[in-house]
Amino acid sequence: MPEGHTIHRAARDHHRILAGQQLTVSSPQGRFGAGASLLTGQLCLAVEAFGKHLLYRFKNGDVLHIHLGLFGRIQKRNLPLVEPRGAVRVRLVSDTHVIDINGPTICRVLAGQEVLSLINRIGPDVLRSDSDPSLAFNRITKSKAPIGRLIMDQSVMAGIGNIYRSEILWRQAVHPKTPGKAIDRQTFDRIWADAKALLKIGVKRNAIITVDGARPSKSRYRERVNIFAKDHCPTCKKAIRRFEINGRRTFVCETCQPLIMEIPIFK
Ligand SMILES: [Zn+2]
Repeated sequence: MPEGHTIHRAARDHHRILAGQQLTVSSPQGRFGAGASLLTGQLCLAVEAFGKHLLYRFKNGDVLHIHLGLFGRIQKRNLPLVEPRGAVRVRLVSDTHVIDINGPTICRVLAGQEVLSLINRIGPDVLRSDSDPSLAFNRITKSKAPIGRLIMDQSVMAGIGNIYRSEILWRQAVHPKTPGKAIDRQTFDRIWADAKALLKIGVKRNAIITVDGARPSKSRYRERVNIFAKDHCPTCKKAIRRFEINGRRTFVCETCQPLIMEIPIFK
């Protein structure tokens, strides 16, 4: 599952090569043939990301909505065209590039009100300057669910994936099992600010880097992390505990992130 930064990076990249151009849109695999025929020949105005959703906006008001889900992938190449590889659901061709999207969970054309209702269903995105973090805090402060689940719930706040979750909560000394209700505004603001800063680094470097001042590693995923899938805490050297929240691996240093259950009196 791509984390929020990879989708924002794709949006930025695709905006640069598609916006301001009439696109040739097709569905080599065939499953998006009707949608592609609505979009082909239309002028692409902008490409943007809301959480893990990609929106390609066209001048006639249509919007191509893509969500990659667990298995979707994007291939971008310079022209000339080559034969589609695998089951390409949608192919977008500009004057310079071809973008093929295989296996997305969502690939559909939205118009008018449908776009607004989609955006309203997605929580404020830590990477968007027009997001209102208060919307996320208001949901969190009313919930008994663990903060580790809430910050990854894309309808509460958008962008944080599984690796960032463990890393941000460690950096902010918050136990992932802390109930939402027990998170005060100051702590939430620190989580939000750290998520924003780290995901921005992710977009820029195309890698998850949560170790201050680190550069991407040379390993396959280029990650540089503190506790995710690690055995010992880099600060206190104690063992890292692992457990699952919503079926996804979560990591915690219970020395640096003590579990505080009580609800603060002042919010
Ligand atoms: Zn520790």
